[in-house]
Amino acid sequence: MGKIHIGNREYQTKATFKSDEVEGLLKALTGKDRVATIERNECMLCDGRAEQFRDELSFKEYQISGYCQPCQDEIFGTDKSNLITRG
Ligand SMILES: [Zn+2]
Repeated sequence: MGKIHIGNREYQTKATFKSDEVEGLLKALTGKDRVATIERNECMLCDGRAEQFRDELSFKEYQISGYCQPCQDEIFGTDKSNLITRG
């Protein structure tokens, strides 16, 4: 199980499980096992390490999409209203 940091707090990484069907589809599309990638603290997009997040919302987003902070910023911008989680 991976760990990430937000500021000086430490969090356990836990991928949100969708369903066998969705996971299988994602794996077929991306060639990556989303849950395993997230638990290794890697990014689904850039294959970089995903260990630092700006805030809990970004971390939540990571556990859903598997995108590291820089990739999230690139995709969603820094405007949180675009995030999937809409926390
Ligand atoms: Zn990335």
